[in-house]
Amino acid sequence: MRRFDTVLIADWSAGKRAPAKPSKDAIWLGVAREGVAYDPVYCRSRAEAEAWIAGFFREEMAAGRRVLAGFDFPFGYPSGFARRITGSDDPLTLWSWIAERIEDREDGSNNRYDVAQAMNALFDGLGPFWGKPKEDGWPGIPYRKSGIAYEEVSERRACDLVAGASSSCFQLAFPPTVGGQILMGLPTLWRLRQMDGVAVWPFEDCADAPVALAEIWPGLVEPAVKAATVDGAIRDREQVRLLSRAVSRLSLDELVPMMTDLPDAAREEAWILGAGHKDRLVELAGDALAPPPLRNDCFALPAGVDWTPVDDALALLRTRLTPVTGVEKLGLGDALGRVLAEPVHARRSNPPQPNTAVDGYGFAGGKVEGAHRLPLVKGRAAAGVPFEGIVPEGHAIRILTGAALPEGVDTVILEEDVATDGQAIAFRGPLKQGANTRKAGEDVREGDLALPAGRVLTPADLALLSAVGVAKVAVRKRLRVAVISTGDELVEPGQDAGPGQIFDANRPMLLSMMARFGFEAVDMGRVADDRAVLRSTMDAAADRADVILTSGGASAGDEDHMSALLREAGAMQEWRIAVKPGRPLALGLWDGTPVFGLPGNPVAAMVCTLVFARPAMALLSGQDWSAPQGFDLPAAFEKRKKPGRREYLRARVREGRAEVFKSEGSGRISGLSWAEGLVEIGDGARHIRPGDPVRFIPFGSFGL
Ligand code: AMP
Ligand code: MG
Repeated sequence: MRRFDTVLIADWSAGKRAPAKPSKDAIWLGVAREGVAYDPVYCRSRAEAEAWIAGFFREEMAAGRRVLAGFDFPFGYPSGFARRITGSDDPLTLWSWIAERIEDREDGSNNRYDVAQAMNALFDGLGPFWGKPKEDGWPGIPYRKSGIAYEEVSERRACDLVAGASSSCFQLAFPPTVGGQILMGLPTLWRLRQMDGVAVWPFEDCADAPVALAEIWPGLVEPAVKAATVDGAIRDREQVRLLSRAVSRLSLDELVPMMTDLPDAAREEAWILGAGHKDRLVELAGDALAPPPLRNDCFALPAGVDWTPVDDALALLRTRLTPVTGVEKLGLGDALGRVLAEPVHARRSNPPQPNTAVDGYGFAGGKVEGAHRLPLVKGRAAAGVPFEGIVPEGHAIRILTGAALPEGVDTVILEEDVATDGQAIAFRGPLKQGANTRKAGEDVREGDLALPAGRVLTPADLALLSAVGVAKVAVRKRLRVAVISTGDELVEPGQDAGPGQIFDANRPMLLSMMARFGFEAVDMGRVADDRAVLRSTMDAAADRADVILTSGGASAGDEDHMSALLREAGAMQEWRIAVKPGRPLALGLWDGTPVFGLPGNPVAAMVCTLVFARPAMALLSGQDWSAPQGFDLPAAFEKRKKPGRREYLRARVREGRAEVFKSEGSGRISGLSWAEGLVEIGDGARHIRPGDPVRFIPFGSFGL
């Protein structure tokens, strides 16, 4: 069997056309690829869903992606049923029999009870279908189950018993019911099956089919759905989201037996994909799952290029790195600075109801011109204390900022603009209908995307989430970054430094940069130029952190043990980037943990961290790609630059002009401290004269 690239899960409905606002009991479609679920699609009607799915199948096939499409209703009936209806045991013959008879109208009204009644009539005695919306309709369908023998066909299929499904295919009404969904779903599947490339599991050979339709049941991931459905989230949406995610996370080795080790009964009755594997699916549906490992070549630069341009290197990082952190749910109070693991949707509109933007008087606005006098109704409307009555036409009511508009009010006049004696108000138009009011949802509408996945939560984001009723969010665990300094010459500040020794300046800088970026810095100390010690420190770092950041020993010299060690492990990528300051970087995976081996020189270490390591680590932490935002300012300096590499100068802004540090010496740590940002000079040749525009990027834009 070939692997599936995309998983689609449909939560079907037998009901009437659903409201425009996303709601439960409509049709929800969940899509996941590579274990990541997309935002579920909401469909108001079966026709809309069928068109969407057909279009989706076409697009996926055109893109060369194989689709496993799960539907949450039985694909077959208990053994013996099909023969009684069509004279054949072939379930697909039954599909076509039902598809020919079901009428499904635009508004969702349909004849499913008529068709069920016709099927019951084909049985001797009471047929198997029961349950209906009213006791006195459809005489051929009993209202209750009592008295139905289920001898010729049993009430449940073999897979229903294995999966512990609570409802029978023959139950047409009263929750939990699936009987109606089958009748209103099979005709859609019958039509989808007519598309080239679509096969039905387990009735047809699905080993290679571009699209496989399969029966599935959200009950299989119920504990995960329960955990995810907090604060009024729409359950059906969570079901398709989590189930699609779980199925797409199944390895082929797990999926193949689920699709092929089936009892004989499945040939006619169909089978629930994953039945009997609930624990595994719940585990895969959950957030706690470890993200997929990085690819071994994630740091490989194009071969044969001597010095890779900065933008090319960044573009590679951008396409290859994926989040390595797990997910946890946090209350908003703990979420500042954390990365959203999933998109967040508004649970409630903001504002939730139309309300007033000012203190004043509310009334029904129409054509308000010239002088007006309106009697006041008793009472008032205030924020949080709504006026429960109706304001009659031609009357006004006292209303205070933030108060919901009472019935009969759509316009508010500022209190400064009226005269009042307590009984009535007098004012002069013109005043537009709706003046001084805020419409419900004019800021954010319920169901709208409030914030996308990958967003680093800011104080304002917390305000937005609170306003739209979100109290808990799924965020990434903090990225843990281990920091190691290497070099025989290093001693700890405060210790005695002999001749030839220097104090370790990089470690405090890098540790605090990691903290500023919102990561958890793990201090692994200093390591002498000793390969064995460095190796064991790297092992410990890989154990304790998600990323390892080292400085020193990254080039290819005798004492460059960092690069030697990575080379030994077969994981070394030498990054020769056309950038100044910067010597070669040593990148690689140490036991699966990404390593950024920075040059020891503090200026290069800082610049390389800002330019390369930070955006890369942002991706690893679950953030979106982030390019630092700079702006053009007149230069306060003169500089000639040769072509072929990009340069970053330590800089600051004074009186609207960009100054650069007096020396470009790469050992000058005082210049780093002096600077408030970097001037970025593009890869080409340039002669900058005072007053010419240069690009200044403040340290704040780098997240410092
Ligand atoms: P390396 O990349 O190991 O060849 O080091 C380049 C330069 O940076 C040498 O002059 C080192 O002494 C210096 N250096 C290396 N690590 C540090 C550190 N942690 N703090 C300050 N200087 C360092
Ligand atoms: Mg060194």
